[in-house]
Amino acid sequence: MESATVVMYPSPGRGHLVSMVELGKLILNHHPFVSLVILITPPPFETGPTEKYIKTVSATIPSITFHHFPIIAIPPGFSSDIIRLNFAIHELYNPIFHNTLVAITEKSAIKAVILDFFTNAAFQVSKNHDLPTYYFYTGGASGLCSFLHLPTIDNITSGSIKDQNLVFDIPAVPPIHSSHFPAGFVDKNKPAYKDFINTARTMAKSTGIIANTFVGFEKRAVDALRDGKCTPEGQTPPTYFIGPLIADDNEVDPSENECLKWLNSQPIKSVVFLSFGSVGVFKKRQLKEIAIGLERSKQRFLWVVRSPPDDERVSNSGGNKELDIDAIFPEGFIARTRDMGLVVKNWAPQLAILGHESVGGFVSHCGWNSTLEAVVNGVPMVAWPLYAEQKMNRVYLVEEMKVALALDIEPDGFVTAMAVEEKVKELMEGEEGRIVREQVLEMSRRAKAATADGGSSRVEFKILCDSWTTM
Ligand code: UDP
Repeated sequence: MESATVVMYPSPGRGHLVSMVELGKLILNHHPFVSLVILITPPPFETGPTEKYIKTVSATIPSITFHHFPIIAIPPGFSSDIIRLNFAIHELYNPIFHNTLVAITEKSAIKAVILDFFTNAAFQVSKNHDLPTYYFYTGGASGLCSFLHLPTIDNITSGSIKDQNLVFDIPAVPPIHSSHFPAGFVDKNKPAYKDFINTARTMAKSTGIIANTFVGFEKRAVDALRDGKCTPEGQTPPTYFIGPLIADDNEVDPSENECLKWLNSQPIKSVVFLSFGSVGVFKKRQLKEIAIGLERSKQRFLWVVRSPPDDERVSNSGGNKELDIDAIFPEGFIARTRDMGLVVKNWAPQLAILGHESVGGFVSHCGWNSTLEAVVNGVPMVAWPLYAEQKMNRVYLVEEMKVALALDIEPDGFVTAMAVEEKVKELMEGEEGRIVREQVLEMSRRAKAATADGGSSRVEFKILCDSWTTM
């Protein structure tokens, strides 16, 4: 029998790569005889180290081969906008992608090509080879409804949406204000705007979309996608809700890790965990305000803190610098809260923390991976979105799924100590908090059922994989 290969083409960011590998592992569970080829483009920007991770996966899973594309020169005058660059780099790699498909086909039958969002440029090449071409959408169903709806929004609006006070009625998600969209979706002058619209259009023409969510979490959005309500310009392709797919690339020994050891000595469900994704940073003034709010809330806390940006006007850089605790927190904060809280610098093993029985709440930036990690572990959230699509996620999590409380965020993005104090207390002890505490436990139960044998996510994944063997 001819050997079978699935080609996976993630964009080079570490998070995208790790998610794609997790999807690959799931494919291998269903089809141990399939080979996976994961294409790696040299990143044109800083993405976090991937070398060691790739080596470990190669050594432990022989059915996965990483195929590294060569470095190619970026033509002069190419956009330096990082999102545009992330899309555009794959246009440059299309001839190499084509040659790679030809080479693989000589030895094996390619059953599917799985792209991610940013490798959209490869779609046409893959289709020219007449290959079934899927997208792995690392967000959820509500996010997918909104994303597929972008071309419609593009058609019905003129000028840049960014500065217009508009509320959009997207099928199956609560009304969303234009200010909650990521800048790239609404600013027609941004270099990547067309990339997003094109990707949404192409995705709608793909063989299928694989989404990292589960039916019981986002039923209304799932139904809307299945009914083709989000792509009025055409049918929505088959969409497979196969999550929650959770990747953990933190290598920690629980008996050695400072956070986990500390949690072991805390009462059950007593600690609120604060963590803001892989790159979230706050200005000095904001860090101080959070500290005051946490101390006043009298709740136990575990807080991952990064250095504030050097340039206080920039909100998203500087996290790698050494954290100067004395310069940031109110005088005596660490000493006074010694029995109540733990401040961790830069990074903590989040998944293990959220799974620890002492954790009872999570102040989150609403990144999709963090969201799923909290939901699986039944940890209710306070939503504090910072960048990308997180403000949209907050709307879904607070208003639709009801697993998070909204934080009062001022128009300039600042959050007062009082808002932190009140919301953290509410989450851990209050009546409004009780509703999300109960709801997230129910969602956790559903998440586990979805990924158990015979659960909806496993069944959908089997349908997807079986469609490749019958070809
Ligand atoms: N993460 C972690 N420790 C940290 C901060 C983040 O392990 O201190 C992990 C977290 O568990 C999640 C990922 O980094 O898996 C962040 O992904 P998410 O989609 O939530 O946010 P992003 O970083 O893409 O904004």
